[in-house]
Amino acid sequence: MQYNRFLPILILLALGLLAAACGPSAGSPTPTLPPPSATARPPTATATFEPTATATRTPRPTPTPIPPSPTPVVDVYNYVQNCDVIDHLVSTYERQAGLEGLRFSTQLSAEAQARLELPVLVEPSCNVKPDNNPFAVVLHATRGGLVGSIAEFQERNSTSIHYIIDRDGQVYQMVPEELVAFHVTCCTAQFGQVKEDYRQSIGIELVNKLYVNPEGFDGPIYEDFLEAFGYRYWEDYPEAQIASLIVLVEDITARWGISMDQVVGHYQVNDTVDPGPALNLFWQRNGNPPRPPIFPNP
Ligand SMILES: [Zn+2]
Repeated sequence: MQYNRFLPILILLALGLLAAACGPSAGSPTPTLPPPSATARPPTATATFEPTATATRTPRPTPTPIPPSPTPVVDVYNYVQNCDVIDHLVSTYERQAGLEGLRFSTQLSAEAQARLELPVLVEPSCNVKPDNNPFAVVLHATRGGLVGSIAEFQERNSTSIHYIIDRDGQVYQMVPEELVAFHVTCCTAQFGQVKEDYRQSIGIELVNKLYVNPEGFDGPIYEDFLEAFGYRYWEDYPEAQIASLIVLVEDITARWGISMDQVVGHYQVNDTVDPGPALNLFWQRNGNPPRPPIFPNP
């Protein structure tokens, strides 16, 4: 091996560079490393890069903000299209199968669903029209039982409702909130802000027989001393049913920005008596049992 006279110089230079890179030299400030923190390198699943569908998309312009809408949103266009097909089915069996296939996720918020004792069930109705823009909630009583009421709301060219609450508090949704349900007709002077019969409200039915003959009636009774609707004895609303109604009213009014004074009884819209004097959600009960309104109107 031939001796290279530059080799010692190269070795010295290399050692000097190594020292400068690895350690502090006299006169230079001691570099300080940041203390290790929990956030420095989180050992999470995100450490592994997995391409997603959005990762490869080209950025789009910022969309125009849209107002809050109920969640989840139902594909109402498809719903109406499918209903048009179902309404042309002659066979009762095929019609029922078609309605079963229309099932959608309830639109009550997750918070509202968590407050309910029982999970919301969906029983789709095809008695709908597009473009509901509700500013009111209308409360009804079914007059009949749950099963018959659901069947009636599912009949072709019948009435319909967004929600039904059974006497045990079980909530059923029958029509997506963005669609019109046929639960009011237009309009008395008592509720003059509703200018047409559709597209302005969300309807809630409570399973209740309304006025009853106390002879032989074994359900709970409310006695209206004033006979404000022409009858003295009414089937009372159980606490579980009222509890669910409170959840629905609070959730629907919050999501749609509906004021509490626009939550009304059907009797305030049309010439009818439902939901009657036994309901104390908004009205003082002066009969027996007496109860103050749960939501006093402002
Ligand atoms: Zn009604």
